Amino acid sequence: MTRADEKRVFDSQYVAFQPSLDGTHVKMNGRLGAMEAEICRQGLDRRGERVIPAGEDRPNAGQRRALVLTTLCQDELDREPTHRATTAHRIRALRNRREPLLMVVANNPTAEASGFEQGSAMLAGGRVGPGAVDLVGCAGRIETMTVTGQDIVHHGSRSGIPPALRRGVLARDNGCTIDACTSVYRLEAHHIIPRSGGGDDSPENLTTLCWWHHHIAIHRQGKRIDPQSPPRRLRLLPTSRSCGYLRPEPDPHTLAILRALQAPTNRAPP
Ligand SMILES: [Zn+2]
Ligand SMILES: [Zn+2]
Repeated sequence: MTRADEKRVFDSQYVAFQPSLDGTHVKMNGRLGAMEAEICRQGLDRRGERVIPAGEDRPNAGQRRALVLTTLCQDELDREPTHRATTAHRIRALRNRREPLLMVVANNPTAEASGFEQGSAMLAGGRVGPGAVDLVGCAGRIETMTVTGQDIVHHGSRSGIPPALRRGVLARDNGCTIDACTSVYRLEAHHIIPRSGGGDDSPENLTTLCWWHHHIAIHRQGKRIDPQSPPRRLRLLPTSRSCGYLRPEPDPHTLAILRALQAPTNRAPP
């Protein structure tokens, strides 16, 4: 490989974000030189060791890198302003510290009515569901607006947990409140009963969780805090899918109507 080859490889590096057609995810692709790729791979893998508490089921290497890349970028967004920033910038940044990158917009009036399963989108346009809305309810702020063509109607914002209360909860709990967890990575306040489920910002409804237990175990894997567990030694229950709940069968009358509606009809269309 000549110097010219090396330069060509270096100049052709890129990372691209390509949103899916339905807006639910983004595909990343790119091209890195062999040395740059090795730095990224080793860095992401090493950070993965730090953010996943011991004893947790480890996602596979590719999934770990995706999670770790997100934390890396979130840390950057939360960083103290640089020395070059003006005083006004610093004050604004401090005031906004730990405020969300994420703002969820309901671009459809049915979002709240559907339990955020429909019509909830990021400000940038990507579609999100009830898990992301609950997470932003803990870690950020939710703006509700309706976007129709060029028109934007703002229906108000649900502010995040007040900063003083957030600090109070973190000081009270002195670490992640999941039993035996010793991770101190990105400790955050969490609503035990989510706001979407009627929970409030009272100190009793707030608890401190590390990043892994908050973002991954609860809001992404769907585990629940066992209400019977002691406050500073919380246990997690498996996801509701595996807790044995079965939806009751509809009563015979409703069942007959449903079957009749689903029955193929031989009648010719009018
Ligand atoms: Zn939470
Ligand atoms: Zn934890």
